[in-house]
Amino acid sequence: MSRFTVVPCRFLFVAAIAGLMVLSAASQTAKTAAPAPPSASTPELRVFDPSLIDKAVDPCENFYRYSCNGWFKRNPLPADQSSYGRFTELAELNRLHLRQILEEAAVPTATRSANEQKIGDEYASCMDTAAVNKLGLKPLQPELDRIAALKSASELPALLAHLHAIGVNAFFSLGSSQDFADSASVISFYGSGGLGLPERDYYTRTDAKSIEQRQQYVAHVHNIFMLAGEPEVQAAKDADVVMAIETRLAKATLTITEQRDPQNLNHPTDVAGFSKELTHFSLSDYVTELHAPAAGKANDMEPKFFAEFNTLVADTPIDQIKTYLRWHLLHAYAGTSLPESFDRENWNFYSHILNGAEKQHERWKRCTTRVDQELGEALGQVYVARYFPPEEKQQTLAMTLAIEHAMEKEIDGLDWMSAATKIRAKDKLHAVMNKIGYPEKWRDYSKLIIVRGDDLGNEMRAHEFDEARDLAKIGKPVDKNEWEMTPPTVNAYYDPQMNNVNFPAGILQPPFFSGKEDDAANYGDTGATIGHELTHGFDDQGRQFDKDGNLLNWWTKDDEQGFNDRAECTVKQYDAIEAVPGVHLNGKLTEGENLADLGGLWLAWLAWLDKEQAAHVDISAKVDGYTADQRFWIAYAQGWCTQTRPEQLRTQAQTDPHAPDEDRANTVLTDLPEFAKSFNCKKTAAMVAAKPCRVW
Ligand SMILES: [Zn+2]
Repeated sequence: MSRFTVVPCRFLFVAAIAGLMVLSAASQTAKTAAPAPPSASTPELRVFDPSLIDKAVDPCENFYRYSCNGWFKRNPLPADQSSYGRFTELAELNRLHLRQILEEAAVPTATRSANEQKIGDEYASCMDTAAVNKLGLKPLQPELDRIAALKSASELPALLAHLHAIGVNAFFSLGSSQDFADSASVISFYGSGGLGLPERDYYTRTDAKSIEQRQQYVAHVHNIFMLAGEPEVQAAKDADVVMAIETRLAKATLTITEQRDPQNLNHPTDVAGFSKELTHFSLSDYVTELHAPAAGKANDMEPKFFAEFNTLVADTPIDQIKTYLRWHLLHAYAGTSLPESFDRENWNFYSHILNGAEKQHERWKRCTTRVDQELGEALGQVYVARYFPPEEKQQTLAMTLAIEHAMEKEIDGLDWMSAATKIRAKDKLHAVMNKIGYPEKWRDYSKLIIVRGDDLGNEMRAHEFDEARDLAKIGKPVDKNEWEMTPPTVNAYYDPQMNNVNFPAGILQPPFFSGKEDDAANYGDTGATIGHELTHGFDDQGRQFDKDGNLLNWWTKDDEQGFNDRAECTVKQYDAIEAVPGVHLNGKLTEGENLADLGGLWLAWLAWLDKEQAAHVDISAKVDGYTADQRFWIAYAQGWCTQTRPEQLRTQAQTDPHAPDEDRANTVLTDLPEFAKSFNCKKTAAMVAAKPCRVW
């Protein structure tokens, strides 16, 4: 488990929902042909690209289609993707770069550095499907034996601790996070978990599609048990047991919308107090086995969930608990490190059935992702040295400072906020830490052992390493230089408990940012992302934290009301959008992202306009046939060009705090009269909201 509030900002959430599952996919031999070098195989990616514009579409009717149709024509949705957009376009390019790095590191030379040995051998082991298939379930057998040896519920705590250490998401999770009341101290956070479907409502919804998905899930669990050697009848019974236990856990879990409010997850206690609540589960045995703190402050994030867990442990036959644990162990490893049959079955349910992908990702792609997840800062160190020049870091920093300055002016001018709250808001803004590109200090992997040829063992040790690293933070000073994303990641985030914005080098590349393009393009795209992250500090969630990251209300009552009234406008706006027939977006679930999109674009616009005016730039002068302000808006919309399968749109609408990309692009533009002015849109046009929303 990691920090509760860190949400990736410009990308689908599928990886987080499906955990390891998205990594599972095709199985190919290690002999796949090397890809052509990226420079030769890919056209130059531009931030503002006039060749993508479809002039047959009226920009005032659907600006997203106007800006993106050319891209759609050029980029049919690949069979191995459940959605494909400019994000994926860049992520795939980054993946080619990482592959080159990894293939070089995989050659066992005497001169390899310790990190090169680790990333190279990890990759080579993952690519060796012949070895993985030959070993079958053997590498997992000691773990299966441990579960089989469980005699009574009193032995569960030690076993569960071990399973958690190796990355098995059974029952609940323990991690470290900053105390909500005191952001300077790191404490134990106990959270809900233990579900195999994307989130709790999948177990409770009563519509036909959800019932069908539950049946498909039970069939999937059944298939995995059969692959593990169970007779068909037994596997069917066991799959029902898993479903029954998970349904109980799900019903006691908060909804994902409830989980977005930090107040709902704030139940301070200490390890001793929490252990008294768990009358049927020895927390002492659990923390001892995990080498986690046996005393000190803790947060029981979901008391209702843990009460149900406690009862479940007491009233469930031990054989059923063993079945449930066996499923979660197989589930956690049913990716690249188990034989092709597991890998394929896992892909079929999570990527094909739930998200519509038609083909598995090639093996090298999945192995690259694994190294990025397990040794991300060792791989990232080489990546930034090759692909992120220092001058681009400086340019991004300058843009961030300009946008922060624009926000300060904007706060000063707000007519709905009192002087007292404005002072606090600006204090918070001034305290934001800007992190760009990569960590100041790289993670030390010297204690992680990677053995060539031991793919599953490597994965297991990587989990153990990461869990130990996370738990070791409890009781130590907060390290604000730590990153939650790896450097090649095409994404960004704001962390409310750290009060910092984080932009990995992976996203600061064309088509989102380019040292070769002008400010209109870079502010329209990356500027809007910077503004987005900054606005997260002041969205429905972020605004509840003070400048130091404490969950502390710094608003006057009237100002809080003023904020809520304005934010409610966006909730209604997005509630009204139907993602797929019968499934509407959830305006409350997506509220934070929608506020950040709206505020982010507006702040980028203000900062850009200031910069151009200070430099006496004539923004009405045309380049490529478009004025600078038009190019600003087009660059923004083109950042969102994405095609998505209906299966994924459904999953996204039900689970993701981000609205689909078309809605993210268009909706905020309808709220900004400055956009309408740039394209001379009439008041009655589709791209002009009758009642525009505006908070920041
Ligand atoms: Zn965001």
